[in-house]
Amino acid sequence: MRAIRIQEVGDPNVLQCVDVPTPEPGPGEARVKMEVAGVNFIDTYHRRGWYPMPLPFTPGVEGAGVVDAIGEGVTEVAVGDTVAYGMSIGSYAEYAIVPSKNLVQRPAGVDAQHGAASMIQGMTAHYLACTTYPLKPGDTCLVHAAAGGTGALLVQMAKLRGARVLGTVSTEEKARIAQAAGADDTIRYTEVDFAEAVRDLTGGEGVEVVYDSVGITTFDKSLDCLKPRGYMVLFGQASGVVPTIDPQVLNQKGSLFLTRPTLASHMLTRSELEGRANDVFNWIAEGKLEIRIDRTFPLDDAEGAHTYLEARQTKGKVLLTT
Ligand code: NDP
Repeated sequence: MRAIRIQEVGDPNVLQCVDVPTPEPGPGEARVKMEVAGVNFIDTYHRRGWYPMPLPFTPGVEGAGVVDAIGEGVTEVAVGDTVAYGMSIGSYAEYAIVPSKNLVQRPAGVDAQHGAASMIQGMTAHYLACTTYPLKPGDTCLVHAAAGGTGALLVQMAKLRGARVLGTVSTEEKARIAQAAGADDTIRYTEVDFAEAVRDLTGGEGVEVVYDSVGITTFDKSLDCLKPRGYMVLFGQASGVVPTIDPQVLNQKGSLFLTRPTLASHMLTRSELEGRANDVFNWIAEGKLEIRIDRTFPLDDAEGAHTYLEARQTKGKVLLTT
């Protein structure tokens, strides 16, 4: 089969397409014949070595396809099931071996592209809006990169929960995308001081929660956007890693809460995984959640997909087709 292999960490050109033996599923595993693999920012962290992986490895933590073989003891899926999954490495390939506990059935109304796109960005937006800080009517949140893959889904889910949403974006085109997703106000954070803009837009009060996936360029000012006892939710680092912080800062800025959550600890049981996935799939089927497929690249151009992502071009989901 064809698969992307990373022999050494580095720039996007380390994503080489090679022929490798088709793997066999072990106990508790299924083999998925991939239709699409999702491209996520975490894949660039693996490729760069920011999240170290044993070399060589096949990147990609999200995908959708059809179960084509199962190992011993698998009960969650059967051969022929149409499935989607996240949080299992190796999706940039024609076949992937996936722990069966990570697989969810894709309902009829959700195709492979939308199924794959739901599993990292959709599930992440779900736990951020519903669990990390459960938004409620009357809350105001700030969503950074509000036109991005995760950002635009988080904006929609925040609106579904009745919150007011302020969204940061880098371009006018992205402002239109964030507004179409439901953002009440957008802030061009590459042009203006976003903390000042948030103060202006909230009558000086600040917001209950900041969802920050941008990292080093936004972290400090994000703290200044919060109300006393507000929630700073740092869930990514698209612009670079946030350095160590002094906990006293949280005291000085008003008894703030800081968390650095990850999806892995929000799909701990089968019922939690299926509950979140069902919400996301149902919202798609009911027309309440729009997943914007931005671009698809062929598997052998994973390099192009990463270059596109890191050039800050994405306006929705990026996928690889096998
Ligand atoms: P996006 O589609 O959101 O792309 C990242 C966006 O970040 C860009 O579109 C850009 O928007 C903004 N950005 C700001 N500065 C930079 C920069 N220097 N380089 C590149 N982009 C920049 O990607 P994803 O939806 O895949 O991921 C978004 C974030 O969410 C990532 O940080 C990722 O790690 C995180 N994540 C975290 C998870 C978790 O559980 N903790 C799970 C899934 C994703 P603009 O041009 O408008 O500034």
